[in-house]
Amino acid sequence: MPELPEVETIRRAVGPQVRGKRIIHTNVRATKLRHPLPPELDRLLVGQLIVAMDRRGKYLLLRCKGGTIIFHLGMTGMLYLVKASSPHGKHDHLDLVLDGSYILRFTDPRRFGTIIWTDNDPLQHPLLVAHGPEPLEAEFSASYLYLKRHRRKIPIKQLIMDSRVVAGIGNIYANESLFRAGIAPQTSASDLSPDKDLLLVDAIKGVLTDAVEAGTSNIESALTGERPQGYFPYEFSIYGKKGRPCPKCGSAIRMMRLGGRSTFFCPLCQK
Ligand SMILES: [Zn+2]
Repeated sequence: MPELPEVETIRRAVGPQVRGKRIIHTNVRATKLRHPLPPELDRLLVGQLIVAMDRRGKYLLLRCKGGTIIFHLGMTGMLYLVKASSPHGKHDHLDLVLDGSYILRFTDPRRFGTIIWTDNDPLQHPLLVAHGPEPLEAEFSASYLYLKRHRRKIPIKQLIMDSRVVAGIGNIYANESLFRAGIAPQTSASDLSPDKDLLLVDAIKGVLTDAVEAGTSNIESALTGERPQGYFPYEFSIYGKKGRPCPKCGSAIRMMRLGGRSTFFCPLCQK
């Protein structure tokens, strides 16, 4: 499932190529994904000049002259460029045909993604307005984390997955960050020892940065106009590795359910 690194990788790959392009035609092939698509999407988009592609949390913001398309990739969504001659498949729900020779295509087999248009400030949209700071920005600091967690009785893993606390971290990168920080995922947020705030903030920033770099070095598909084969490779340390040896100590990685989500941890390295 795409989280901040996958979304940021797409932004870095696709954003510079669509900036300054005009949408000359659209093909809208779905009426509803997670939310209904605006019925007048075609009329709203044709003729729009794309000025930037930004990211907020796990959302991509395609800023146009007259408004913004807000994309969320859901569980299986992908936004990428294909050559204008590329035939569409059954899960290709939106094509933005750009001047030049490319289509900006949104594909989503499981249809949990979101496509919304707003002509107001997208950061004030109800989906985004409550987002906490971006984890890779300075505002997300040890003192900030302490303020947000020290009265909360929920597991620290659930706290860092709350987009109101910090934007863009889902189950995968919460697992990876807690492993890197050596913190047991079920630790009550209020019980975390204060010396762990900096460890956890640094681990989150480090894991996300590594994953963005891994993705950005594997963006050929976005540059050649081919359909991507999946999200971009990042070698997880612990996520999905139940029973495999911990990369730090060699003992078997365990799995439990926490807040309904698969949670992987090393019982020796994470206290
Ligand atoms: Zn270990």
